[in-house]
Amino acid sequence: MYKVIIIGSGCAGLTAAIYAGRADLQPLVVDGHEPGGQLGLTTLVENFPGFPEGILGPKLIESARTQAEKFGAQFKPGAVTSVDLSRRPFKIVVGKETYETESLIIASGASARMLGIESERHLLGYGVSTCATCDGYFFRDREIAVVGGGDTAMEEATFLTKFAKRVTIVHRRNEFRASKIMLDRARANEKIVFMTPYVVDEVCDVGKKSVETVKLRNVETNEIKAIQVEGVFVAIGHDPNTKVYRGQIEMDAAGYIITHDGPRTSVEGVFAAGDVQDHHYRQAVTAAGSGCMAAIEAERFLAARKS
Ligand code: NAP
Repeated sequence: MYKVIIIGSGCAGLTAAIYAGRADLQPLVVDGHEPGGQLGLTTLVENFPGFPEGILGPKLIESARTQAEKFGAQFKPGAVTSVDLSRRPFKIVVGKETYETESLIIASGASARMLGIESERHLLGYGVSTCATCDGYFFRDREIAVVGGGDTAMEEATFLTKFAKRVTIVHRRNEFRASKIMLDRARANEKIVFMTPYVVDEVCDVGKKSVETVKLRNVETNEIKAIQVEGVFVAIGHDPNTKVYRGQIEMDAAGYIITHDGPRTSVEGVFAAGDVQDHHYRQAVTAAGSGCMAAIEAERFLAARKS
């Protein structure tokens, strides 16, 4: 029986683990299917306070993990396969093992949707990115492509024009899902050009571990066109990792966990932190902040039950 189990080992989960560990709650952290979360997939992080020269995402995660272990957090590899939040203690199943816990912090994150092509996977963090706020700065005076036709793609493309020489929005249809105001803003920006209806066939050059060109295919004519860019921002949406909680906890239509009064969820004793409950900011530092809040609330919840 654990006092607190934390699901997810990204910035939110690890911060919750540090705080819960220091509160002597001996947390169990279930790593999840992407240990380290999205920071584990990135390279240099320049906007996390305290690192004026920047820090590599995997290094930041590794240090936070060591810090959590120092305060007594235990780690369990693997992803949660099912949960029972209908009664206390809550039951958490990871593969063949079942754990019981008095309180739970869900920090399972949201995964950026990817195009699913081989070269994109190899170049993620080396010119391919899923976060303009995080990586836009590295593309000063460069040509870049943004893939997607929703609000995120328009917002990221517009933001990226602060740095880039030119931004090409690549979208698979001639119609856009983006709201009119965001689309109009992007269209009015002279640094943005549109290429539709195109899909990305390949990002080159995997051999050089850097982005040099992108091969696009016109979905109507099958014509192939290569454009020279040094960065590709995939902005085709995010999916919160909340499948196992469906029907047991309040979520919005997109599957994000709804929180109130900080990290509280619709189930007393269950708290949520990081991108699993935040599709707005999605930053390492905001995830860390909400992980801290979740651990403090879990500690208070446990203390109140004791007294
Ligand atoms: P979204 O609205 O679901 O749009 C995703 C876009 O990516 C669509 O244009 C879609 O194309 C394209 N796409 C999906 N899978 C693809 C694939 N495999 N290959 C190529 N293209 C693909 O996602 P979002 O833009 O992230 O927005 C999510 C929500 O957040 C929306 O409700 C949005 O309004 C909101 N949001 C609001 C703001 C704001 O107001 N400031 C900013 C960002 C997001 P199709 O259209 O062809 O399906």
